[in-house]
Amino acid sequence: MAKLQALCMKCRDDNNKPTMQDMKEDSIAVTQKGSRFSAKGQCSSCGGNQFKFLGKDDAMKLKDDGASFTEEPAA
Ligand SMILES: [Zn+2]
Repeated sequence: MAKLQALCMKCRDDNNKPTMQDMKEDSIAVTQKGSRFSAKGQCSSCGGNQFKFLGKDDAMKLKDDGASFTEEPAA
């Protein structure tokens, strides 16, 4: 499955800034809302929740790789 990285609010660096961490591959859930795509998952390092907006290409790649995919009506 494609690797996906997102900021983790719990894994912070020495300056107390959130750091980029891999999402657990089997936790990735992609959502399409209208023409916008996002992914939710868990940090592979601390298990905390992660969220990231995706481009369409990345979203489709994850979907093709077998990630959970949900389509919601646009608000
Ligand atoms: Zn983390």
